[in-house]
Amino acid sequence: MFVYSGAIHIHSTYSDGSLKPDEIANIANEVGLDYIIITDHNTLNALQFGYEKFYGKTMLIVGSEINDINNKNHYLVLGVDKLVGTFRDIGNNEYGNELPASKYVKEFHKLGAIGFIAHPFEKRTYFPQHPQFPWTCWESDYFDGIEIWNHMSEWMEGLTDSNKFNRLIHPLKSVISPDIEAVKKWDELNLKRKVSAIGSIDAHCHKQNVLGFFTLDIFPYKVLFKSIRTNVLLDEKINPADKKSFGKFKKEIINALKDGRSFIVNNYYGDAKGFRFFAEYKGEYYNIGEDFHIENEKKDNVILKCFVPKQARIKLIKNGKCIYETDSISGIWNYDGPGNYRVECWLGEKAWIFSNNIRITTKK
Ligand SMILES: [Zn+2]
Ligand SMILES: [Zn+2]
Repeated sequence: MFVYSGAIHIHSTYSDGSLKPDEIANIANEVGLDYIIITDHNTLNALQFGYEKFYGKTMLIVGSEINDINNKNHYLVLGVDKLVGTFRDIGNNEYGNELPASKYVKEFHKLGAIGFIAHPFEKRTYFPQHPQFPWTCWESDYFDGIEIWNHMSEWMEGLTDSNKFNRLIHPLKSVISPDIEAVKKWDELNLKRKVSAIGSIDAHCHKQNVLGFFTLDIFPYKVLFKSIRTNVLLDEKINPADKKSFGKFKKEIINALKDGRSFIVNNYYGDAKGFRFFAEYKGEYYNIGEDFHIENEKKDNVILKCFVPKQARIKLIKNGKCIYETDSISGIWNYDGPGNYRVECWLGEKAWIFSNNIRITTKK
């Protein structure tokens, strides 16, 4: 198993970002990211103009962030080479999909796209020119996952007149944890079907007049690349020298995100290299994002194991509830009946690593 570290949800000059896709990818390569996903608003221009490829060791993958004509229901789509619906100018240099969200979610699913709900419970109110864009279409059932942690939303949500200067100088320090409401919703959804979680940066590198007299780049890409990452588990080693295999590796990364073979890490608090969470059952190992059946619930046992690269508060969560916690570099637990198991690692008050679920069921 190989772990690859990526930054998801990035805007380039093809929408409201401030650098071109190749410039962003070169920075990502410098910082050591294995992949980045560019998701410009309502366009696949970065794909159509040929930016999707290796930049050193970094893979640049192109998706898109779709919104409706009210600029609500932002939806990240990956793995497609065309978009559905018609886009209409909605003012302020912005466009919206004329289809309602329930329709575009379904149509993208039919097209074979992998879709993630972006910043579902966003509550930011500080900048009138950057209002909140929450998800309002939970009746739709065709999405693959949700963004439970979005750097940009979290940073803006806590912004006040008195802390904004400090937050601008230290953009990484004010990012504390995934959105509580989004995590709760994610756990609830998983009781019905598999829904994976991703963490993202939502990088724009806005020019922002913050203090009334000068403009600042809020969050250069390079700074954000040290923040929230989604690390994927692949069976195969990515070989950047093998340019022809780009398409195959791209597919593997997107599928890992879809299946939840991934964990979210705030890299600012430490590299997650060496982090593992898996279940052992009858001599087999089941990693994050895998599902399996237990044959004889009365007789068979499952052991859950977690290893962390440095001491943290490790919480084992079953169906959304914490059932064990320990301050350690590892956790080894007997399982507690069928259900969805994931781990959270905290460093004091700061969330560090959030895994996706291992789903354990009993045979009917
Ligand atoms: Zn958005
Ligand atoms: Zn965005």
